[in-house]
Amino acid sequence: MSFDTLGLDALILKTLTESGYEKPTPIQAKAIPAILAGRDVVGLAQTGTGKTAAFTLPLIQRLNKNQTHTRPGSIRVLIVSPTRELAAQIHASVRAYSKGLSIISACVVGGVSMRQQKNALKRGLDILVATPGRLLDLADQNCLRFDDVETLILDEADQMLDIGFLPAIKRIISACPKTRQTLLFSATMPKEIKALSAQHLHNPEEIAVAPVSKTADKIEQGVMHVTSDNKIPAIIALVKKHSDKQVIVFTRTKRGADRVVRRLEGSNLAAAAIHGNKSQNQRERALDAFRAGKCPVLVATDIAARGIDVPGIGLVINFELPNVPEVYVHRIGRTARAERDGLAISFCEPDEQFYLRDIQRLIKLDIPVLPTPEGVEGLKTPNLENARKPKVVQQQRPPRRDRPAKPAQGKPRPAKKRADGGPAKPAGAKPNRRRPNRNKSPAKAG
Ligand code: ADP
Ligand code: MG
Repeated sequence: MSFDTLGLDALILKTLTESGYEKPTPIQAKAIPAILAGRDVVGLAQTGTGKTAAFTLPLIQRLNKNQTHTRPGSIRVLIVSPTRELAAQIHASVRAYSKGLSIISACVVGGVSMRQQKNALKRGLDILVATPGRLLDLADQNCLRFDDVETLILDEADQMLDIGFLPAIKRIISACPKTRQTLLFSATMPKEIKALSAQHLHNPEEIAVAPVSKTADKIEQGVMHVTSDNKIPAIIALVKKHSDKQVIVFTRTKRGADRVVRRLEGSNLAAAAIHGNKSQNQRERALDAFRAGKCPVLVATDIAARGIDVPGIGLVINFELPNVPEVYVHRIGRTARAERDGLAISFCEPDEQFYLRDIQRLIKLDIPVLPTPEGVEGLKTPNLENARKPKVVQQQRPPRRDRPAKPAQGKPRPAKKRADGGPAKPAGAKPNRRRPNRNKSPAKAG
């Protein structure tokens, strides 16, 4: 299978060669012809499968072929993404893939000033990448119009559902013309997303590649049984051993992430944290430093777990095991992107054995036990059959969201920040609808 057979123009094929893409990923091979043909698409695919190029390439080709005069505030292709980081990343891909073409694009997300975004919208756009909260804010201020949208893309739809964006998504869909093309991508298909697709997509082509319960084949996984005191020394030893790799460390809480960074820095290991209590600027700086290789260790809560694409990540360390098993799959999916190999090592303290058992059941694999690094004391391999759910669990919160859905009508009111640093909630917002807890886990996470 090669890109030439998918109906893409020479111009786009050239960009692909320059990007070093030799052959399409499975989702690209199936989605590109369907999108070029104008079909609606439902794509079920986990992260790292090349979804962004799958929808961006054919759309860029179409936009470039029939360039129309865009009205002020109008958008031809609207890409909606659950988080700011993902939106920024998609926009970076859009720009890379449309290099040399006269495609005008912009990215609007919360947490930064609106002024520039309003300016960008003024002349009309070919492609807009947006998070739902900021998009609707700008629409409420009459800075953009949905009536010229030709294609609407809902990326990581299940994550948007998880963080309470379903009402916002419905509002956005209803505002777009009925004749639009709709592309919906999701790693899982909870019933709310199925219903959304059934109601709003027109005879979609359904494309499924590797289900989420199957961890990427290329990822080598291991578990280390250690006490909490030994986790930092273990990280330091692992980072030294894998000095050729960029390392991402996942913690369950924001404070935990900051603590890990402080302790690593105390041992002269450059590390940066990204989580919901950091400003947009801080997060971007941390990600940039990490991407540029200036800082070998990124410590993240689960907001970073999905979609963040740093090609060089070679090692994922789970400082704590997630108590929702699917989160494990998303976290370790940060490594072994596209065709690369990757390693994922999880620390498991006696309290977490129950979660390890849950994860192993989900992925249908016994994660091999690794010896602890030299000088770091390990624990005996437990018998997981007897693992009990810990009584006191640090609750895993859903990731910080951009801004939750707003009631459909009424003046926009300033959102109130929750004291615990959790998601902001505008006055009068309905409680978020969440997926039913299928795994009887004590908490939800994204
Ligand atoms: P997803 O949206 O499914 O998480 P991305 O579109 O972010 O995946 O792609 C993941 C990584 O794979 C990116 O680094 C991207 O540049 C790379 N990639 C995408 N398509 C190809 C391809 N056909 N060949 C090689 N690398 C690819
Ligand atoms: Mg993506």
